[in-house]
Amino acid sequence: MGKRRTSQRPWWRQLILWLLVSSGISLLARRRGALSRSGVPAAIATGTLTAGIGGWELGLSLIFFFVSSTLLSRFRPQKKVHATAEKLAKGSARDMLQVLANGGVATWCALRYGLRRRSSGALDSLAHPESDSPDLWLAAFGGALATATADTWATEVGMLASRPPRLLTTGRPVAPGTSGALSWPGTLAAAAGALSSGIVLQGLFALGDFLSGLPRGGVRGRSLPLAFLACSSGLAGSLIDSFLGATLQTVYCCPRCGQETEQPLHQSCQTVTRRLRGLPGVNNDTVNFLATLSGGLIASLLARYTR
Ligand SMILES: [Zn+2]
Repeated sequence: MGKRRTSQRPWWRQLILWLLVSSGISLLARRRGALSRSGVPAAIATGTLTAGIGGWELGLSLIFFFVSSTLLSRFRPQKKVHATAEKLAKGSARDMLQVLANGGVATWCALRYGLRRRSSGALDSLAHPESDSPDLWLAAFGGALATATADTWATEVGMLASRPPRLLTTGRPVAPGTSGALSWPGTLAAAAGALSSGIVLQGLFALGDFLSGLPRGGVRGRSLPLAFLACSSGLAGSLIDSFLGATLQTVYCCPRCGQETEQPLHQSCQTVTRRLRGLPGVNNDTVNFLATLSGGLIASLLARYTR
């Protein structure tokens, strides 16, 4: 068991290293307008804990999610502003709640994975149930992150679709950017996002194997089919996201101009809006949190029952 090289170094060194890396990336993202002021500490905490405790493979997967989503949101921004400024509650700079809603579940899974991996030995595996094994936490991490990636890619690409998306529940065509709406380009982007996320995670673990000279399927849960798990659970999670967006999420209607919106105060005419459907207090952040939680659960169930 002495082959686990990372656990031989002092744990706090990894944390400090990743605190510096996360701070650098977050401040750069803040300067480029991808994070709001409150989003910066949330992104630093998420990155530091995921990479510093979970390991560099998980940290780099998180960075892949963040960078790819930011780049996609920069692609043809004018068209998206026109399509969605009326609808969405928030702008393109991610605030603290958005960061935690998208990355909180993955961070928690990375923490559990890192802590269980450090403590897992022969005696320990008797003391802990299989549902708390590092493998399942790693699968859950992959599923939660793939869901966030799939959902973000789908939103960014779906807003560029030439035909209006359709509401998942009723099939009615709605304006681009409407929560719970699906389009073919958006759905393909979700599948591509989930698959890329899984391939990146599995590829990084394969690279780790190679660098440390371990055989494939070694000691760190790398026998898991991570790309398959992340792709299937990420796509399922993003569909759950759309379903919850179409059913539970609050949609408001502006009494002055009749526009459907996610804004409690309609920004363009400064009018307090009325709730049209959905549960009070359920916003896009709530839906994203529940969807990433579902994606993580689905991945860990798949990992547990397909072995
Ligand atoms: Zn209005």
